[in-house]
Amino acid sequence: MTDNSPPHDAPPPGALCFAFRGGELLVAEDGDGVRVPRVADSGLHAESGVWVDAGEADGLRCFAVSLPDGALEPPGMRFVRLRRLYPLLPAPVYRMAGRASEIVEWEHAHRFCGRCGGRTVASGEALARRCTQCGALHYPRLAPAVLVCVADGDRLLLARSPHFPAGMYSTLAGFVEPGESLEEAAAREVREEVGIEIAGLRYFGSQPWPFPSSLMVAFTAEYAGGDLRPDPAEIEDARWFTVDAMPAVPPVMSLARAMIDDWVRAHGGDPSALETTE
Ligand SMILES: [Zn+2]
Repeated sequence: MTDNSPPHDAPPPGALCFAFRGGELLVAEDGDGVRVPRVADSGLHAESGVWVDAGEADGLRCFAVSLPDGALEPPGMRFVRLRRLYPLLPAPVYRMAGRASEIVEWEHAHRFCGRCGGRTVASGEALARRCTQCGALHYPRLAPAVLVCVADGDRLLLARSPHFPAGMYSTLAGFVEPGESLEEAAAREVREEVGIEIAGLRYFGSQPWPFPSSLMVAFTAEYAGGDLRPDPAEIEDARWFTVDAMPAVPPVMSLARAMIDDWVRAHGGDPSALETTE
Protein backbone atom coordinates (compact mmCIF):
# COMPACT_ATOMS: atom_id res chain seq x y z
CA MET A 1 0.00 0.00 0.00
CA THR A 2 1.36 3.46 -0.86
CA ASP A 3 0.57 6.83 0.66
CA ASN A 4 -1.61 7.56 -2.35
CA SER A 5 -3.84 4.54 -1.88
CA PRO A 6 -7.49 5.32 -1.24
CA PRO A 7 -8.62 5.21 2.41
CA HIS A 8 -11.03 2.37 1.66
CA ASP A 9 -9.92 -0.45 -0.62
CA ALA A 10 -12.23 -2.82 -2.40
CA PRO A 11 -13.24 -5.66 -0.10
CA PRO A 12 -12.06 -9.20 -1.00
CA PRO A 13 -14.42 -10.79 -3.57
CA GLY A 14 -14.89 -13.90 -1.41
CA ALA A 15 -15.94 -11.97 1.71
CA LEU A 16 -19.56 -11.89 2.84
CA CYS A 17 -21.18 -8.61 1.84
CA PHE A 18 -23.44 -6.91 4.41
CA ALA A 19 -24.90 -4.04 2.41
CA PHE A 20 -27.49 -1.88 4.17
CA ARG A 21 -30.05 0.53 2.79
CA GLY A 22 -31.37 2.17 5.96
CA GLY A 23 -32.54 -0.69 8.20
CA GLU A 24 -32.63 -3.18 5.32
CA LEU A 25 -29.99 -5.74 4.37
CA LEU A 26 -29.28 -6.86 0.80
CA VAL A 27 -29.85 -10.62 0.45
CA ALA A 28 -29.72 -13.01 -2.48
CA GLU A 29 -32.79 -15.14 -3.03
CA ASP A 30 -32.99 -18.49 -4.76
CA GLY A 31 -34.87 -21.78 -4.38
CA ASP A 32 -33.09 -22.53 -1.10
CA GLY A 33 -34.22 -19.33 0.57
CA VAL A 34 -32.27 -16.16 1.30
CA ARG A 35 -28.57 -15.78 2.01
CA VAL A 36 -26.04 -13.00 2.43
CA PRO A 37 -24.13 -12.69 -0.89
CA ARG A 38 -20.36 -12.76 -1.38
CA VAL A 39 -18.88 -9.41 -2.43
CA ALA A 40 -18.21 -10.84 -5.91
CA ASP A 41 -21.91 -11.71 -6.36
CA SER A 42 -23.31 -8.54 -4.83
CA GLY A 43 -22.94 -6.29 -7.86
CA LEU A 44 -21.22 -3.77 -5.56
CA HIS A 45 -17.69 -2.40 -5.86
CA ALA A 46 -15.16 -0.25 -4.04
CA GLU A 47 -16.99 2.97 -4.91
CA SER A 48 -20.41 1.74 -3.79
CA GLY A 49 -19.76 3.21 -0.35
CA VAL A 50 -17.41 3.20 2.61
CA TRP A 51 -16.59 -0.46 3.27
CA VAL A 52 -15.88 -1.54 6.81
CA ASP A 53 -14.15 -4.73 7.88
CA ALA A 54 -16.68 -6.17 10.35
CA GLY A 55 -14.75 -9.29 11.37
CA GLU A 56 -15.50 -12.96 10.74
CA ALA A 57 -18.63 -15.10 10.81
CA ASP A 58 -18.86 -18.80 9.98
CA GLY A 59 -15.13 -18.71 9.09
CA LEU A 60 -15.64 -16.01 6.44
CA ARG A 61 -14.45 -12.44 6.40
CA CYS A 62 -17.30 -9.96 6.51
CA PHE A 63 -17.48 -6.46 5.07
CA ALA A 64 -20.23 -3.94 5.64
CA VAL A 65 -21.31 -0.94 3.60
CA SER A 66 -24.09 1.62 3.83
CA LEU A 67 -25.83 2.32 0.52
CA PRO A 68 -27.77 5.48 -0.35
CA ASP A 69 -31.54 5.59 0.29
CA GLY A 70 -32.40 5.17 -3.37
CA ALA A 71 -30.07 2.20 -4.02
CA LEU A 72 -31.64 -0.44 -6.30
CA GLU A 73 -31.46 -4.21 -5.85
CA PRO A 74 -29.15 -6.09 -8.24
CA PRO A 75 -31.02 -8.85 -10.16
CA GLY A 76 -31.96 -11.82 -7.97
CA MET A 77 -31.54 -9.84 -4.78
CA ARG A 78 -33.70 -7.77 -2.50
CA PHE A 79 -33.50 -5.58 0.55
CA VAL A 80 -35.17 -7.06 3.62
CA ARG A 81 -35.66 -5.47 7.04
CA LEU A 82 -33.10 -6.87 9.45
CA ARG A 83 -35.71 -8.01 11.98
CA ARG A 84 -37.47 -10.13 9.37
CA LEU A 85 -34.26 -12.02 8.58
CA TYR A 86 -33.93 -13.54 12.05
CA PRO A 87 -35.70 -16.81 11.16
CA LEU A 88 -34.19 -16.91 7.65
CA LEU A 89 -30.42 -16.66 8.23
CA PRO A 90 -28.07 -18.99 10.16
CA ALA A 91 -27.55 -17.68 13.71
CA PRO A 92 -23.86 -16.63 13.28
CA VAL A 93 -24.69 -14.78 10.07
CA TYR A 94 -27.68 -13.04 11.65
CA ARG A 95 -25.53 -11.97 14.61
CA MET A 96 -22.95 -10.58 12.20
CA ALA A 97 -25.70 -8.74 10.32
CA GLY A 98 -26.65 -7.04 13.59
CA ARG A 99 -23.04 -6.16 14.34
CA ALA A 100 -22.49 -4.90 10.79
CA SER A 101 -25.61 -2.72 10.92
CA GLU A 102 -24.45 -1.13 14.17
CA ILE A 103 -21.00 -0.46 12.73
CA VAL A 104 -22.25 1.21 9.53
CA GLU A 105 -24.77 3.25 11.53
CA TRP A 106 -21.99 4.41 13.87
CA GLU A 107 -19.63 5.18 10.94
CA HIS A 108 -22.34 7.22 9.29
CA ALA A 109 -23.18 9.16 12.48
CA HIS A 110 -19.53 9.89 13.41
CA ARG A 111 -18.06 11.29 10.22
CA PHE A 112 -17.44 14.49 12.18
CA CYS A 113 -16.00 14.88 15.66
CA GLY A 114 -18.49 15.62 18.43
CA ARG A 115 -15.86 17.66 20.31
CA CYS A 116 -14.51 20.01 17.64
CA GLY A 117 -16.47 19.30 14.45
CA GLY A 118 -13.37 18.08 12.59
CA ARG A 119 -13.55 15.29 10.05
CA THR A 120 -12.92 11.78 11.41
CA VAL A 121 -11.19 8.84 9.74
CA ALA A 122 -11.01 5.14 10.54
CA SER A 123 -8.33 4.75 13.22
CA GLY A 124 -6.83 1.73 11.48
CA GLU A 125 -6.55 -0.24 14.72
CA ALA A 126 -9.47 -1.00 16.99
CA LEU A 127 -13.02 -0.22 15.92
CA ALA A 128 -12.65 3.52 16.36
CA ARG A 129 -12.69 6.76 14.41
CA ARG A 130 -10.02 9.39 15.01
CA CYS A 131 -10.58 13.11 14.62
CA THR A 132 -8.15 14.63 12.08
CA GLN A 133 -8.13 17.94 13.99
CA CYS A 134 -8.09 17.22 17.73
CA GLY A 135 -7.14 13.53 17.69
CA ALA A 136 -10.14 12.41 19.79
CA LEU A 137 -11.02 8.75 19.37
CA HIS A 138 -14.68 7.86 18.93
CA TYR A 139 -15.85 4.32 19.63
CA PRO A 140 -19.20 2.75 18.81
CA ARG A 141 -21.70 3.44 21.59
CA LEU A 142 -24.39 1.12 22.83
CA ALA A 143 -27.56 2.19 24.61
CA PRO A 144 -28.26 -0.38 27.35
CA ALA A 145 -31.90 -1.11 28.06
CA VAL A 146 -33.53 -3.30 30.69
CA LEU A 147 -36.40 -5.72 30.20
CA VAL A 148 -38.38 -6.70 33.28
CA CYS A 149 -40.74 -9.65 33.43
CA VAL A 150 -42.87 -9.23 36.59
CA ALA A 151 -44.85 -12.16 38.01
CA ASP A 152 -47.15 -12.48 41.00
CA GLY A 153 -47.74 -16.16 41.68
CA ASP A 154 -49.86 -17.47 38.81
CA ARG A 155 -50.26 -14.04 37.21
CA LEU A 156 -47.86 -12.44 34.72
CA LEU A 157 -47.72 -8.69 34.15
CA LEU A 158 -47.67 -7.69 30.48
CA ALA A 159 -48.20 -4.28 28.96
CA ARG A 160 -48.55 -2.68 25.58
CA SER A 161 -47.10 0.52 24.23
CA PRO A 162 -49.15 2.50 21.69
CA HIS A 163 -46.46 1.61 19.10
CA PHE A 164 -46.99 -2.17 19.38
CA PRO A 165 -48.85 -4.13 16.70
CA ALA A 166 -52.57 -4.40 17.53
CA GLY A 167 -53.27 -6.84 20.36
CA MET A 168 -49.65 -7.50 21.30
CA TYR A 169 -48.49 -7.35 24.94
CA SER A 170 -44.94 -7.70 26.22
CA THR A 171 -42.72 -7.28 29.26
CA LEU A 172 -41.79 -3.80 30.48
CA ALA A 173 -38.69 -2.19 29.02
CA GLY A 174 -36.72 1.03 29.23
CA PHE A 175 -33.34 2.61 28.66
CA VAL A 176 -30.77 2.87 31.43
CA GLU A 177 -30.12 6.49 32.45
CA PRO A 178 -26.70 8.02 33.24
CA GLY A 179 -25.61 7.20 36.78
CA GLU A 180 -27.96 4.25 37.16
CA SER A 181 -27.25 0.59 37.80
CA LEU A 182 -29.19 -1.97 35.78
CA GLU A 183 -31.09 -2.93 38.95
CA GLU A 184 -32.04 0.69 39.65
CA ALA A 185 -33.14 1.17 36.06
CA ALA A 186 -35.36 -1.92 36.30
CA ALA A 187 -37.07 -0.75 39.50
CA ARG A 188 -37.52 2.79 38.17
CA GLU A 189 -38.92 1.71 34.81
CA VAL A 190 -41.51 -0.55 36.42
CA ARG A 191 -42.49 2.16 38.92
CA GLU A 192 -42.74 4.85 36.23
CA GLU A 193 -44.54 2.76 33.63
CA VAL A 194 -47.11 0.93 35.77
CA GLY A 195 -46.81 2.30 39.34
CA ILE A 196 -45.86 -0.90 41.18
CA GLU A 197 -42.86 -2.00 43.24
CA ILE A 198 -40.80 -5.12 42.50
CA ALA A 199 -38.53 -7.44 44.50
CA GLY A 200 -36.39 -10.51 43.84
CA LEU A 201 -34.79 -9.17 40.65
CA ARG A 202 -32.91 -11.97 38.88
CA TYR A 203 -30.71 -11.81 35.81
CA PHE A 204 -32.22 -13.73 32.89
CA GLY A 205 -29.96 -12.98 29.92
CA SER A 206 -28.80 -10.35 27.46
CA GLN A 207 -29.03 -9.79 23.73
CA PRO A 208 -27.59 -7.34 21.21
CA TRP A 209 -30.49 -5.31 19.82
CA PRO A 210 -29.20 -3.51 16.73
CA PHE A 211 -32.29 -1.37 16.08
CA PRO A 212 -30.19 0.73 15.89
CA SER A 213 -27.67 0.15 18.72
CA SER A 214 -28.97 -1.21 22.02
CA LEU A 215 -28.00 -3.96 24.38
CA MET A 216 -30.96 -5.61 26.08
CA VAL A 217 -30.45 -6.91 29.62
CA ALA A 218 -33.35 -8.99 30.87
CA PHE A 219 -34.52 -9.63 34.43
CA THR A 220 -37.35 -11.48 36.07
CA ALA A 221 -38.91 -9.96 39.19
CA GLU A 222 -41.72 -10.49 41.68
CA TYR A 223 -44.54 -8.11 42.42
CA ALA A 224 -43.97 -6.41 45.78
CA GLY A 225 -46.86 -3.95 46.13
CA GLY A 226 -48.85 -1.09 44.65
CA ASP A 227 -51.77 -0.82 42.23
CA LEU A 228 -51.39 -0.96 38.46
CA ARG A 229 -51.48 2.63 37.22
CA PRO A 230 -50.14 2.67 33.65
CA ASP A 231 -48.46 5.91 32.60
CA PRO A 232 -50.54 6.94 29.57
CA ALA A 233 -47.50 8.61 27.97
CA GLU A 234 -45.77 5.23 27.55
CA ILE A 235 -48.23 2.43 28.31
CA GLU A 236 -51.59 2.03 26.61
CA ASP A 237 -52.64 -0.91 28.78
CA ALA A 238 -51.08 -3.13 31.46
CA ARG A 239 -52.72 -6.24 32.91
CA TRP A 240 -52.14 -9.42 34.84
CA PHE A 241 -52.54 -12.49 32.64
CA THR A 242 -52.94 -16.15 33.59
CA VAL A 243 -51.39 -18.97 31.59
CA ASP A 244 -54.73 -20.05 30.09
CA ALA A 245 -55.65 -16.56 28.86
CA MET A 246 -52.52 -15.11 27.30
CA PRO A 247 -52.54 -12.26 24.76
CA ALA A 248 -50.52 -12.12 21.52
CA VAL A 249 -46.82 -11.85 22.36
CA PRO A 250 -43.60 -10.74 20.58
CA PRO A 251 -41.78 -12.97 18.04
CA VAL A 252 -39.40 -15.68 19.25
CA MET A 253 -36.27 -13.67 18.40
CA SER A 254 -36.70 -11.41 21.44
CA LEU A 255 -35.58 -11.89 25.02
CA ALA A 256 -38.95 -10.62 26.16
CA ARG A 257 -40.52 -13.60 24.40
CA ALA A 258 -37.94 -15.98 25.92
CA MET A 259 -38.92 -14.79 29.41
CA ILE A 260 -42.64 -15.08 28.64
CA ASP A 261 -42.12 -18.60 27.25
CA ASP A 262 -40.18 -19.59 30.37
CA TRP A 263 -42.95 -18.39 32.65
CA VAL A 264 -45.65 -20.10 30.55
CA ARG A 265 -43.71 -23.39 30.62
CA ALA A 266 -43.21 -23.14 34.39
CA HIS A 267 -46.98 -22.73 34.81
CA GLY A 268 -47.94 -25.76 32.76
CA GLY A 269 -48.61 -23.97 29.45
CA ASP A 270 -47.32 -24.54 25.94
CA PRO A 271 -45.29 -21.59 24.58
CA SER A 272 -45.67 -22.82 20.99
CA ALA A 273 -49.43 -22.30 21.32
CA LEU A 274 -49.02 -18.58 22.03
CA GLU A 275 -50.21 -16.20 19.36
CA THR A 276 -47.24 -14.33 17.90
CA THR A 277 -47.22 -10.92 16.24
CA GLU A 278 -44.66 -9.57 13.82
ZN1 LIG B 1 -12.08 16.67 17.11
